[in-house]
Amino acid sequence: MGEVASWNVTDGVAVLTIENPPVNAVSAAVRSALIDAIARADADENVCALVIACAGRTFFAGADLKEFGQPPVPPFLTEVVDGIEASTKPVVAAIHGAALGGGLEIAMGCHYRVAAPDAKLGLPEVKLALMPGARGTQHLPRLVGVEKALEIIALGDSISAVVAKAIGLVDELTDGDLVEAAVALAHREMGKSPRRTRDQVAVPVPDAIYEAFAAKYARKFRGLDAPPVIIASVRAATQLPFDEGARRERDAFLKLRDGPQHAAMRHVFFAEREAAKVPGLEGVEPRKIDSAGVIGAGTMGSGIAVTLLSAGIEVILFEREAAALERGVARIREVIEGNVRSGRMDRANGDAALASLRQTLVMADLANVDVIVEAAFETMEVKQAIFIELDRVMRPGAVLASNTSYLDIDDIAAATTRPQDVVGLHFFSPANIMKLLEVVRGAKTAPDVLATALALARRIGKVAVVSGNAWGFIGNRMLAVRRREAEAMVVEGASPEQVDHVLEAFGFPMGPLKVGDLSGLDLGWSIEMSTGSTIRERLCEAGRRGQKTGKGFYDYDDARQPVPSPQAEAIIARFAQDEGIVRRAFDDTEILDRLLWPMVDEGARILAEGIAARASDIDVVWLNGYGWPVWTGGPIFHARQTGIDEVCRRLERLGRQPSDALRKIRL
Ligand code: NAD
Repeated sequence: MGEVASWNVTDGVAVLTIENPPVNAVSAAVRSALIDAIARADADENVCALVIACAGRTFFAGADLKEFGQPPVPPFLTEVVDGIEASTKPVVAAIHGAALGGGLEIAMGCHYRVAAPDAKLGLPEVKLALMPGARGTQHLPRLVGVEKALEIIALGDSISAVVAKAIGLVDELTDGDLVEAAVALAHREMGKSPRRTRDQVAVPVPDAIYEAFAAKYARKFRGLDAPPVIIASVRAATQLPFDEGARRERDAFLKLRDGPQHAAMRHVFFAEREAAKVPGLEGVEPRKIDSAGVIGAGTMGSGIAVTLLSAGIEVILFEREAAALERGVARIREVIEGNVRSGRMDRANGDAALASLRQTLVMADLANVDVIVEAAFETMEVKQAIFIELDRVMRPGAVLASNTSYLDIDDIAAATTRPQDVVGLHFFSPANIMKLLEVVRGAKTAPDVLATALALARRIGKVAVVSGNAWGFIGNRMLAVRRREAEAMVVEGASPEQVDHVLEAFGFPMGPLKVGDLSGLDLGWSIEMSTGSTIRERLCEAGRRGQKTGKGFYDYDDARQPVPSPQAEAIIARFAQDEGIVRRAFDDTEILDRLLWPMVDEGARILAEGIAARASDIDVVWLNGYGWPVWTGGPIFHARQTGIDEVCRRLERLGRQPSDALRKIRL
């Protein structure tokens, strides 16, 4: 049986128990043990049925990560699933914890499935730009029908065993001893010919069902290779004999597995795990966080409060203005109520979150909270004044964080007598939705404060990346370069629509000029200080401050949709003339090169300066904070896939000198 399995026969039922901690990943050793078990059950006339169970906290929770991206090691999962299904003696899967990916494919190869009610089942391959490759797309529609199968496979979210029972994926739920229940079922089926999934019929549905499904998730599937292939494979299950459908599934799976999108998603998967590991923090105990104070009830403060409250953390919201405080509290309530209405949050958690919110205009009321997140105006004077006051009122040991986008965290910390407790927590807008949290490490930030920031990020469901303390940190510093290029091209003759379209076609949800309009063109601008020396200033001077004023690079209609603006175009043309710039036509390739590669070069410098600890951290920032298309793996991964030499050539063609730092990120 090998080291991962034990075998026990009682009253004609063999129980195979796999033990491959921590999650019973379907490794080569596990696959061998399963194949051996089928052969052994077949050969032993004292065995009339087989139960497949797992020890530890879960059934097979997926593939073996160590095999990722490596040449496949036999025996293959298809042989395991086919072997189980072909068994002449009934085979029962006993599922607890999670049956995911290959784990669920094994369970569907079994003739019967018994599960603990809190178990989870799913085929998450699509999240790695893959699809099930061991009969999953052929078995599942036969068990649950096309529509449910499409959702489970193409969206990749797991379902509970209770739902799985209701739709026919699981035969029996048990609150009692799982293996006993599986053995009892095996006894009932003993001597009968096994009920094989492959022999069942996947009932055909009209084409309109597939079309409606693809249309419903068009946004989610945009740019991805796997979803259409999955849909076709599920449809094949209704049209082709099992073996033919399975063969096609395998071909499609291999193509995806060897394709660029899976390589990118694998990179993303490991990059995010890596980002959470910060050298030097091993064994450092985070401080406890049960309560938080949020300073400033504006856009960011209220979003941050929602995030904290949703994770079960008490929040006291502080403002200097009563009206702003009321508006903020109303916004927080509205978002949480909305999340309950849409089912994103259950009623009990929603009520608990709302009950955990308090508000104040008195800073001393924050004295006893565990962490402060300051989200007031973005000026050093405002921030320092707040931190001086915090230093006076806060209990010792409280973590003092600022959500600043650009300011020097050391200068903020210097306003206090406890710079070791100060850290940057840079959330992204909308803070309750965007996954990224840049954690800014100041020169004096204590290791346990950094560890606390990372633990807090995990708890509130954010992906944290540690950044050094420098203007714009990782993300905004690169964004500034892209913005500069986008605006320069518009002045030089490209239209805002063309520039935005090129980046959207590459896979971003929104082009750079629309992003500018959305965040406001007047960030850091005031009419008194305006010099009119940039296109942004010119637009602001004309009252075109972005979406909030109904106009910026675009005009906005009543539905806030951008429409090309003749007035903006005239302002831009006039500005070009004043600057002595002769406007010209751009082709899309040049636009894309200018939007991507100077920014990547800046990323390489950020890495060389040690602001980012690893190249992959930069990818994680852009994927989770700025909408970089996940299937290209992030800016640095994409540059490496393109070839750094090629990137340098394209920069030179744009008249730019690639930095030494860029040449150094060659793999
Ligand atoms: P905002 O103008 O919407 O809100 C700021 C709030 O802070 C206002 O309600 C204001 O009344 C309050 N405030 C100002 N001074 C205060 C003080 N001394 N004490 C208490 N409250 C005070 O601004 P925002 O967009 O929420 O930005 C807040 C911070 O977050 C800034 O540092 C900004 O750079 C940063 N940030 C913003 C974004 C974004 O996209 N908006 C993203 C990341 C970070």
